[in-house]
Amino acid sequence: MGIFAKHANKSEYIIIVGCGRLGAHLADTLSDDGKDVLIIDKEEKSFKKLSNAFSGMTMVGDACEMFIRGECNISKATAVIAVTNMDNTNIMAAQIAKEMYSIKNVIARLYDPDRECVYQEFGIKTICPVIMSTDAVCSMLASTDAD
Ligand code: AMP
Repeated sequence: MGIFAKHANKSEYIIIVGCGRLGAHLADTLSDDGKDVLIIDKEEKSFKKLSNAFSGMTMVGDACEMFIRGECNISKATAVIAVTNMDNTNIMAAQIAKEMYSIKNVIARLYDPDRECVYQEFGIKTICPVIMSTDAVCSMLASTDAD
């Protein structure tokens, strides 16, 4: 039985690209929630951020190259979430997932807010910490003003 055989029995197979602070937290949370999770990072030591309870899979390598080679069972993924520290890598991984494998749920983190709307036009969902944090701060300020 190959390492990916267990996907056959689970309805959601989520690939996370980048096991940094956000990637590791997401992987732990989604895995706890019963999802079949694969997390990829180019550095083996990054997986130390995962909790001991993480029951998903890990793979070391450049995610874009793996996707292009059709590795990691990407064609069976129900979602791909690209959260490395590099906007270009996240966009490339997201575009490969969307264009080559027609994966519906593709999400990329973008540090640069100016690029967010461009990629939304390609059908890629984006999260931009700058915009989200700004919105949160403004709403906290507004609720303080109302006190
Ligand atoms: P952070 O800055 O804490 O969100 O961490 C980002 C993570 O993305 C680090 O663990 C990097 O090793 C990882 N990373 C960067 N580029 C790639 C890539 N091309 N493929 C896989 N992981 C990557």
